[in-house]
Amino acid sequence: MNATLTEAPNKVTEFDRCDACGAKAQVAVTLSGGGFLTFCRHHARKHREALEAVEARIVESELEEDQADEVASPR
Ligand SMILES: [Zn+2]
Repeated sequence: MNATLTEAPNKVTEFDRCDACGAKAQVAVTLSGGGFLTFCRHHARKHREALEAVEARIVESELEEDQADEVASPR
């Protein structure tokens, strides 16, 4: 069910850091209450169940962990 969502910035950028450990962020989490968190893949996985339990919106970065600079590669 999709309520009217305003397109908030819900993607990680290369400047975002994991809120848990400070590593490069790979996953953006928008909380249903309006909060916004960024996690590395490790912590996103670790907190995923809890986040899904509160209906957070989880958006994984398309960037590869080790090839974050390589954005030009087509699928
Ligand atoms: Zn982390």
